[in-house]
Amino acid sequence: MVMEGEGESEQSHNVVLFPFMAQGHMIPVLDIARMLADHGLAVTLVTTPLNAVWIRPILDRAASSSCRVRVLDIEFPCAEVGLPEGCESMDLLPSNDLKINFLRATELLQEPFEKLIRQEVENPLCIISDMFLGWTVETAKVLGIPRIVFHGTSCFSCCCSSCIHEKKPHINVGSDTEPFMLPGLPHDIRLTRAQLAEFSKGNSELMAAGFSRVLEEMRRANAHSYGSIVNSFEELESEYVNHYRNVVGMKAWPIGPVSLCNRDQIDKAERGKKASVDESACLRWLDSQKPESVVYVCFGSLCRLAPQQLTDIGLGLEASGLPFIWVLRGDREQVDQWLPEGFEERVKGRGMVIKGWAPQILILSHPATGGFVTHCGWNSTLEGLTAGLPMVAWPLNAEQPMNAKLVVDVLKVAVPIVFDTQGVVPKEAVEQAVSEMMGNGEMRGRARELGEMARRAVEEGGSSYMNLTLFIQDMIAYKKARTMDTAPVCDSPPPCTSSE
Ligand code: UDP
Repeated sequence: MVMEGEGESEQSHNVVLFPFMAQGHMIPVLDIARMLADHGLAVTLVTTPLNAVWIRPILDRAASSSCRVRVLDIEFPCAEVGLPEGCESMDLLPSNDLKINFLRATELLQEPFEKLIRQEVENPLCIISDMFLGWTVETAKVLGIPRIVFHGTSCFSCCCSSCIHEKKPHINVGSDTEPFMLPGLPHDIRLTRAQLAEFSKGNSELMAAGFSRVLEEMRRANAHSYGSIVNSFEELESEYVNHYRNVVGMKAWPIGPVSLCNRDQIDKAERGKKASVDESACLRWLDSQKPESVVYVCFGSLCRLAPQQLTDIGLGLEASGLPFIWVLRGDREQVDQWLPEGFEERVKGRGMVIKGWAPQILILSHPATGGFVTHCGWNSTLEGLTAGLPMVAWPLNAEQPMNAKLVVDVLKVAVPIVFDTQGVVPKEAVEQAVSEMMGNGEMRGRARELGEMARRAVEEGGSSYMNLTLFIQDMIAYKKARTMDTAPVCDSPPPCTSSE
């Protein structure tokens, strides 16, 4: 494809992608890499050696369909920051206390990253990098190209976060459980302090551990980026796409749902990691179930639930009488200890327990799957919406409570989970939420409509397809203006002062 008046083929434009090293961040960026390559661009993806090992086969498979994505390795300085050797992905951290070390290691990549791009990528068009790699705004500046931030979440939650940061509505409530309203948003959105991500609340231990500086620098860098690529679609959250653009002031291109670029069964089955279950056995089992009858339960790649909570989930699913697939993270032995006594025997034929990694989008897109119990990580939430499924919203941390608000209160396609005063969900509440999700026809109808809209958005002529085209045009126009010396320079964030 040659752009009008450009005279240069898009293959001569090289986009640099740098995802954050966590499954929930890398998986959508791999999809974005393939989408950009499908639009005819040359794409360079930078990642650490151990991540490159599982990423290369995925991108090589796509290469046969004319897509060109090159993977460049960058060494990850585990030893320098006290991380165990080989800890190159957030989900491999042996304890949460090491998160700050992980973030410090990513900061040390600034110099080698710049060197690598200078050596290996001729005339790059732009850098698309994760919000956790805020310092890439400086790299982009010295290279004279735009830095595009990928937050990995919805415009809705970006708007909520910006509102909390700017207006601090959580400061004046009397307790962690008293709801406060987020002023200035298109809907009446209420959260509690207990639901806020630790860093918004100002948890003193985390702050003392240096999170405060790292997060503040990230926020500033992201605010000084040229724009933002979003894994969402305009029709899903149009008021928040507009709010993000016009009130928060970020140039934004919603180009999703990016998971829909996985059309072949193997791509669906091996998205992220190789599944811990034989996918054809899983599909055969689903084929044997009635349409829209199976409940799929999965809490993403990072969350760990307490053993008692897992027992309650198991007993709640058993009591519901519904067929289900339940994904439990951890190795086989651990998982067997967590399961209620005699559980697998009792639910044999009706319930499938996957111990490890599930082929999630393969399961979600199967006609027998009828509902999704999710922790509301954005990828999972959007994948559930894309499959046209009603959900049980069970947020645990980070921006998940905001995503839960979107699906429960704004889109009205999810049942909120009810925690008891100890922060636990008893088996009765699990059973009730699952039964309500499966039995609510109106909710299912709305979810189905959103699923159809999602598919239309990525088709040729759809809003996400158009946004991707506009994004590429914008980047090419920027490059052209730069060669004529008229491009706006990405400004650096001001230095962080200790008083903030
Ligand atoms: N995922 C998967 N199989 C699993 C668990 C997760 O394929 O067993 C994928 C899921 O489809 C999603 C991503 O991993 O794309 C998880 O991202 P999300 O934002 O939902 O949650 P996080 O793991 O970041 O908390």
